[in-house]
Amino acid sequence: MSEIAIVGGGLAGGAAATLLARESRRVILLERDAEPAHRICGEFISGDAAAMLDRLGLDLERLGATRMDRMRIVSETRTITAPLPFAAFGLTRKRLDSALLDLAAAAGARIERGVAARKIEGRRVESRLGTIDPGALLLASGKHDVRGAPRPTEGCDQDFVGFKTYWRLGAAATAGLRGHIEILLFPDGYAGLQLVEGGLANLCLLVRKSRFTEMGGGWSALLNALLKLPRFALRLADGEQILEKPLAIAGVPYGFVHRASPGSNELAFRLGDQAAVIPSFCGDGMAIALHSARRAAETLMAGGGPDDHHHALHADLAGQVRLAMRIQRIGGRERLQSMLLGAISLAPALLPWLAQATRVRT
Ligand SMILES: Cc1cc2nc3c(=O)[nH]c(=O)nc-3n(C[C@H](O)[C@H](O)[C@H](O)COP(=O)(O)OP(=O)(O)OC[C@H]3O[C@@H](n4cnc5c(N)ncnc54)[C@H](O)[C@@H]3O)c2cc1C
Repeated sequence: MSEIAIVGGGLAGGAAATLLARESRRVILLERDAEPAHRICGEFISGDAAAMLDRLGLDLERLGATRMDRMRIVSETRTITAPLPFAAFGLTRKRLDSALLDLAAAAGARIERGVAARKIEGRRVESRLGTIDPGALLLASGKHDVRGAPRPTEGCDQDFVGFKTYWRLGAAATAGLRGHIEILLFPDGYAGLQLVEGGLANLCLLVRKSRFTEMGGGWSALLNALLKLPRFALRLADGEQILEKPLAIAGVPYGFVHRASPGSNELAFRLGDQAAVIPSFCGDGMAIALHSARRAAETLMAGGGPDDHHHALHADLAGQVRLAMRIQRIGGRERLQSMLLGAISLAPALLPWLAQATRVRT
């Protein structure tokens, strides 16, 4: 049977490798990083993502994940708390992605760590291993495009700069955060704060480029400005930052949903962020990555090709991504943001409803 090559060993690549290897397909997965590494991600694992990981055989609580069942949105003038419509988990991607690649290897997939795909041409992949010419190619390189296979990003919102770091919070801040995902709003940006394993908190934030420049254009200046806001000081002032330098990213194409153009005859299956990028506040990118992996595996097993996969995935995801982009636009305008928060505080059921409406349908 011909080989299946997968580029990228994040959630999408790791899940696809596991599913296909369990169907006795010959799989080779190329992962650029030689060792498990931190990823820029809020590490909020939604109920759907948790269920899909459970079906793959990963026990999140055994891996050390924390559990959350409430969300809290904090702006300058309001704090709104509501139950999540599902139980969610917090776990570092370093631990999660690595556990998934171990599953894929145990299922029989060949995992090549420390091997970057340098160029893609049709189905052919060039790397330091030479040229691989597989029977099927799955592109799961996430936030980064591989040369030869760029995402067409016209119309996407690429105007954010993102940072992620870990924090050891003080005892009172940890107790206040336990069981919650907190979204801290600030002008032209927001931060997610939640506990992960080892008693640490993940602080992941996005800010519009113009505001970032206005705030000094560097991490220290941004952090100092945020620590002057009471909602950030309350949680972070008594704590310490763990990573020497935060992870940073720019140019993420929010709103991108890959669409097969008629008769395109594409040769690669796009998975995860290579297929669709939902605004980060939804905390659903991981669910999309896992869902796209399952769709690709099912399509391949049924003898279908990339166009069948992309049609099905577009139908699954386009609506949620569109709604999430509308909310992102409203959230970016201060007056509309305060109207939305006002409406939510009058009708608290709106928040869990919105959280559910922006979920991928699995
Ligand atoms: C700021 C921010 C916060 C987020 N917060 C959340 C959240 O809380 N919850 C949530 O569900 N989603 C969140 N997301 C989205 C989520 O991180 C992504 O949707 C998800 O990681 C996509 O998974 P993936 O497998 O497609 O890609 P990735 O997780 O990016 O994995 C891609 C893999 O491919 C490898 N790779 C890249 N290029 C190559 C190459 N050339 N050759 C070989 N390997 C390569 C990388 O090293 C990586 O291991 C967030 C995103 C951002 C930007």
